[in-house]
Amino acid sequence: MAKRDYYEILGVSRSTSVDEIKKAYRKLAIKYHPDKNPDDPSAEEKFKEAAEAYEILSSPEKRQRYDQYGHQGNQGGFGGGGSMNMEDIFSQFGDIFGNGGFGGGDGFFGGGGGRGRGQRKGSNLRIKLKLTLEEVANGVEKKIKVKRQMACDHCHGNGSKNGTSLKKCTTCNGTGQIRKVVNTMLGQMVSATTCTTCNGDGQMVSERCEYCHGSGTNEKEEQISIKVPGGVADGMQLSMSGKGNYPRGGGVAGDLIILIEEQEDDVLKRDGLNVIYDLYISFTDAVFGTSLEIPTIDGKVKIKIDQGTQSGKILRLKGKGVKDLNGYGKGDQLIYVNVWTPQALSKEEKDLMEKMRGSENFKPNPGKNDKGFFEKMKEFF
Ligand SMILES: [Zn+2]
Ligand SMILES: [Zn+2]
Repeated sequence: MAKRDYYEILGVSRSTSVDEIKKAYRKLAIKYHPDKNPDDPSAEEKFKEAAEAYEILSSPEKRQRYDQYGHQGNQGGFGGGGSMNMEDIFSQFGDIFGNGGFGGGDGFFGGGGGRGRGQRKGSNLRIKLKLTLEEVANGVEKKIKVKRQMACDHCHGNGSKNGTSLKKCTTCNGTGQIRKVVNTMLGQMVSATTCTTCNGDGQMVSERCEYCHGSGTNEKEEQISIKVPGGVADGMQLSMSGKGNYPRGGGVAGDLIILIEEQEDDVLKRDGLNVIYDLYISFTDAVFGTSLEIPTIDGKVKIKIDQGTQSGKILRLKGKGVKDLNGYGKGDQLIYVNVWTPQALSKEEKDLMEKMRGSENFKPNPGKNDKGFFEKMKEFF
């Protein structure tokens, strides 16, 4: 199958910056994350395709070779197999999502199986973590209680009495492997597979630990401190290795997968890195100007409204937005100024307004500095 152009895959131009490439890849990685698309096999393909494109275009050398020679320029990469495997992709994620280790080497990829001989891996635990806008914007350290299977203290997780009552595995005679001799055209070949009785340990329990009944694990509640970096978004996953369940009979614990849930704020709306606030001021305040307090993610802030402020003006509070996940600064708070038109008036007010109605000063007269909607959009987004 012919490979697609890397720039096309990421939807960026050939002259684009590394920063933009990173951003584009991050979007695709979240969109096509296999965990999010369990029923769509094409998502995994797209996920891998994007990872490969990123791998090449994020490296100045590889990118130059690709620009010059196309796909031929970087052949022999990815372990010679041509495409990246999931392990490679997730090792990239530290780079993309910060050192928090996003993406999660979930059971989907590792199969939850052993990592080498005698290294059984326990199952992953999943939790949801609700965060307020303020927590999302600035990052937060959350302490939560998690019930998980942990290694039994009495047998150190191997399930035998006092942790020492072990005997040689009878299936594999202590080698941890089952060997089979196969006759082939080229002569005899020996194939070795991991012993399923002892899972490759070469040992089995002769007398069971009475505290865990031989399983090697006990359910315990543990307080875990989760450092959430600023700039996470709803649906992202944070993975903490070794904080999942400990496997039966010893090995290494699985991972704790934390699914981020963003709580909507009543007054402040998030728009990427920016925070948007709808401000309503009275007609008279718009005419005379005023100063007032408005909410931000870091508490109340006093702002000044100039005299003669038009409805639709956008004010910017620099650095009062959401932190960039990769540490490239912070967004801003944008304040949309809405001038409130009174809807009910007393007789006296009506008379006053009627008098002003005919005045030349009350007729709209937008000048060069009064930008329309589209110019404002271009300026701020
Ligand atoms: Zn065995
Ligand atoms: Zn035990």
